[in-house]
Amino acid sequence: LRILGIETSCDETAAAVVSRFEDGTGRIEADVVLSQLDEHSAYGGVVPEIAARAHVEALDSLIEEALVRSGTTLDEIDAIAATAGPGLIGGLIVGLMTGKAIAHATGKPLYAVNHLEGHALTARLTDGLSFPYLMLLVSGGHTQLVLVRGVGDYERWGTTIDDALGEAFDKTAKLLGLPYPGGPAVEKAAASGDAKRFNFPRPLVGEARLDFSFSGLKTAVRQAAEGIAPVTDQDISDICASFQRAISRTLDDRIGRGLQRFLAEFPDREGMPALVVAGGVAANQELRRTLQSLCDRHGFRFVAPPHHLCTDNAVMIAWAGLERMGTGLPSDTLDVQPRSRWPLDAGAQAVIGHGK
Ligand code: ATP
Ligand code: MG
Ligand code: FE
Repeated sequence: LRILGIETSCDETAAAVVSRFEDGTGRIEADVVLSQLDEHSAYGGVVPEIAARAHVEALDSLIEEALVRSGTTLDEIDAIAATAGPGLIGGLIVGLMTGKAIAHATGKPLYAVNHLEGHALTARLTDGLSFPYLMLLVSGGHTQLVLVRGVGDYERWGTTIDDALGEAFDKTAKLLGLPYPGGPAVEKAAASGDAKRFNFPRPLVGEARLDFSFSGLKTAVRQAAEGIAPVTDQDISDICASFQRAISRTLDDRIGRGLQRFLAEFPDREGMPALVVAGGVAANQELRRTLQSLCDRHGFRFVAPPHHLCTDNAVMIAWAGLERMGTGLPSDTLDVQPRSRWPLDAGAQAVIGHGK
């Protein structure tokens, strides 16, 4: 089976061609991503109108490029998978409508994919993971701990009650005068900082529920910065290092509880349990060290797919479509609608306009 995947939910326009074989393994035939970072950086964040327009302008030629690079014609494609949500509605409309048009013109089935499902299933393509496993998604828009039980079968165990983790990095960078996107800038500054200088809050640590909260941390950073005048580069480094340390400690507690819950719910699971990380913040080395040591302590395998498959891409959308096909789950009808909000555990298949 071979699928064309389309992703336009945020600020990356992406197209990919992916194959899946009978033994359940897959192969990336082409993976094309165009980041809109430059277009948004002047505004310090993603501007929805600019994003939607950029998707319109880029998508057709990206799809063509993916087909050419994979040496595939549309005739040789078995289905089309396009992100239908969650995300910015303008971009979702562009990608899903394009997917529908190709499906309509070629008569191939359409899979309207949940973007979060794409992130959740990537580790099965890259590392051949078997169900069930835990996934931590940490990006600019999401912070979720999800139990991945099967294709289309997800349970959200924890989510942020305010800012996403990537958002906390971006806002912290902004108020320290560091460039956008904030994550890489904060990590770089932190490398030469004293992580013990500031004792920033560790929200929700110790609580039984598995949720996250990062807005208080951002406020504490602001207060720390305001308490110093003038702020030197060393101060900024110390704040960034202390900020990352607070996050590490918080995740250590929150995710640690998640791992314990997993072991309690699946005592008879065969093989080593696994924690998968996804999303742009997964690039952060301290976060990786924290999760690795946490997994070592709890007897989990820590899986971090390659960086370009952790951030937004169309490979994961194509793969999610292939997984649904392989499992015999139905495709979607052409009246399926994009959804800016679409929780993963509300059902992976589009609830609106769902095909037979
Ligand atoms: P989504 O819709 O999936 O949330 P997004 O575009 O907001 O999409 P990604 O592209 O997956 O998210 O990731 C971008 C986020 O990752 C930004 O908030 C950025 O600051 C953060 N990030 C990137 N690199 C690092 C890093 N090294 N350390 C911490 N955060 C990082
Ligand atoms: Mg992005
Ligand atoms: Fe994403």
